[in-house]
Amino acid sequence: MEKLIIIKYGELTTKKENINLFINTLNKNIKEKLKEFSVKIEYDKGRMFIRVLDNAFANVIETLKEVFGIHEIIIGYEINTLDLEEIKKNIQFLVKEKKFTTFKIETKRSNKKIKKTSIEISSEIGAFLLKENQNIKVDIHNPEIKIHLELRNKESYIYFETIKGLGGYPVGTLGKGILMLSGGIDSPVAGFLSIKRGVKVEGIYFESPPHTSIEAKKKVEELARILSKYNGETKLHIINFTAIQEAIYKNIPHEYLITIMRRMMYRISSIIASRSNAKILVNGESIGQVASQTLTSMKAINEVVKLPVIRPVACFDKLEIIDFAKKIGTYGTSILPFEDCCTIFVPEHPVINPDSKVCENYETLIPYQELIYKAIKNHEIIKISEQEKNDYEDIL
Ligand code: ATP
Ligand code: MG
Repeated sequence: MEKLIIIKYGELTTKKENINLFINTLNKNIKEKLKEFSVKIEYDKGRMFIRVLDNAFANVIETLKEVFGIHEIIIGYEINTLDLEEIKKNIQFLVKEKKFTTFKIETKRSNKKIKKTSIEISSEIGAFLLKENQNIKVDIHNPEIKIHLELRNKESYIYFETIKGLGGYPVGTLGKGILMLSGGIDSPVAGFLSIKRGVKVEGIYFESPPHTSIEAKKKVEELARILSKYNGETKLHIINFTAIQEAIYKNIPHEYLITIMRRMMYRISSIIASRSNAKILVNGESIGQVASQTLTSMKAINEVVKLPVIRPVACFDKLEIIDFAKKIGTYGTSILPFEDCCTIFVPEHPVINPDSKVCENYETLIPYQELIYKAIKNHEIIKISEQEKNDYEDIL
């Protein structure tokens, strides 16, 4: 009998036409994620089997909890036979170690050559266990332990409990998105939620040195590192936004400052997206959160790009976003007190209902195409992976 990990993937098995892409991507993502461990991975109809060759079983399980596309992680026992007498003996061996008074057996046969039905097998094993063990009984509705038995090609698998996986789709199966990643609380959560749906994200961060500090940038790098646990190696595009922001600040009436600044961010993000072959932009906007996130503002800002803009936290309350950020481990970093470029150039009375025509007119006051071209030409790309222990630590 060999102890191993069995992976179940739920939702993706319903996507018939894409099944190979989904499984191959999940396989690749799991291999990448477990590359530090000595494991052997096999795939067979709707299941993945992971044999852990060193004694890192518990660590492998913890790591698998960070992989999207996995719906259940099961600690199972494999026996190389379909013989019921052998199976009974092995179940009895495992059950002896457990304390319980009520149980239920659930049998599945993917091998339909087996003549007995699942129910017949369950009741035969149940009867055997009742005979071998005192003071236990069957409870179909509310058992203390469930004994699962799966009969496959030539092997049987026994397991007791399942651990919930992250769900979602394997990262990359839906293509790529550009995540507008500020140092705030909302955008890392937005990133996590889009990664969950199979979108591989590349981050884009607008910095305005010397108005923003190196710590603010490191904070964003650290957020990208946390996201890379789920996203895999993550590219972060750093755009120097100083010249654009100063030009806006000097030449444009201040009530429109934020609206126009955000239109510039959208334009740049969309150019980076087309260069990276990304199909969407993702950001942490939330309806009504600030003046630039009223519906009229969103419309005036959104108008400058053609790509779909996905706002995963659009309908979350701030407290819901905070709870989420705590769960995924980004909150502690997000609340570090380093100013990012938006907070420095905040006007006293930002417009709540900006008009697109007015935006266009004001934008003629600055040579924005040239400034955008320069910012993109000089932009920096950093590749971030979760293993990197780096100098962000000194800001935390
Ligand atoms: P967050 O929304 O992430 O908590 P924030 O509240 O400072 O940060 P907002 O002013 O609400 O940011 O901006 C809305 C969204 O615009 C952010 O969630 C983020 O997606 C994007 N954004 C804002 N500032 C930047 C920046 N400097 N670089 C990249 N994206 C940014
Ligand atoms: Mg916000």
